[in-house]
Amino acid sequence: QPFGRVIDGKAVAAELRRDVARDVAELVASGCQPGLAVILMGIDPASQVYVRNKAKQTREVGMASFEHRLPATARQTELLSLVQQLNNDPAVHGILVQLPLPGHIDERIVLRAIDPAKDVDGFHPLNAGLLAGGGGGLVPCTPLGSMILLRSVRPGLRGAHAVVLGRSNIVGKPIAQLLLAADCTVTVAHSKTERLPDICRQADFLIAAIGRPEMIQGDWIKAGAIVIDVGINRVPTVDGKTRLVGDVAFEDARQRAFAITPVPGGVGPMTIACLLRNTLQAARSQSGGSILS
Ligand code: NDP
Repeated sequence: QPFGRVIDGKAVAAELRRDVARDVAELVASGCQPGLAVILMGIDPASQVYVRNKAKQTREVGMASFEHRLPATARQTELLSLVQQLNNDPAVHGILVQLPLPGHIDERIVLRAIDPAKDVDGFHPLNAGLLAGGGGGLVPCTPLGSMILLRSVRPGLRGAHAVVLGRSNIVGKPIAQLLLAADCTVTVAHSKTERLPDICRQADFLIAAIGRPEMIQGDWIKAGAIVIDVGINRVPTVDGKTRLVGDVAFEDARQRAFAITPVPGGVGPMTIACLLRNTLQAARSQSGGSILS
């Protein structure tokens, strides 16, 4: 088996967007144009970039894109009434509230206010519960994208030992649930985990989502493993600029892995593509079709 294959997240994401665009065209022909509404509160520069990219890609696949901006000083009740208005708007099938929210807003209350059928980020407790129960709801985008990349190199996942580094509600936990549903044996590690390198060395699939630049060393990788690096970390370079790196020491890990995702160009591009896929799924279910696409 050849080693060190680099998984091209950009190409897989482009293919997924093409599939979504084709299905959107069919839905439009049957009289329903899927619509995605994004709420951006405040002027966080990274969030502005994400929201712009999301709107652009939404339009490119033939969906309607609605953008709502609120000043950072807006009150929580204003945000909640906007969410309510979008919940009731039949042209809107997906609602995404861009995180992080300003400090005076209770994120949990806002995420719970979104209609679970329109919760394309998959963060509503109802969708988290459905995922824990084996599926049927909307699945968070980054975990979904990570699974698609894993399956792009290993279609059958059954029986393999998957080690997930990180247990956040938006990345680590949902990835662990998806791997379990795919019949993997799953270990979830976190900041209190002891003997982390030994645990990593047992992983057929290593999914890193900890936000620690290049912490996972090459010799923590089992020979022939598949490495999915979710981490996105900005680090300074010698010339005073910055660059993006993952949670895994890429070049060293590549020597041992069967396949590995790069940063950037791995999981990152999959996130928006999966958001579009979720919006399509939400539109189908709201227009009377099955939620399971
Ligand atoms: P969080 O900070 O919410 O969670 C990090 C997790 O990693 C926690 O469970 C934490 O453990 C664990 N952790 C932290 N340090 C260590 C350590 N030294 N050893 C073992 N475990 C550790 O981050 P997110 O889940 O939101 O994101 C994770 C990474 O993924 C980030 O780099 C983020 O930028 C990236 N990301 C990428 C996306 C994409 O589109 N590709 C989308 C979302 C996130 P504990 O629970 O004990 O604190």
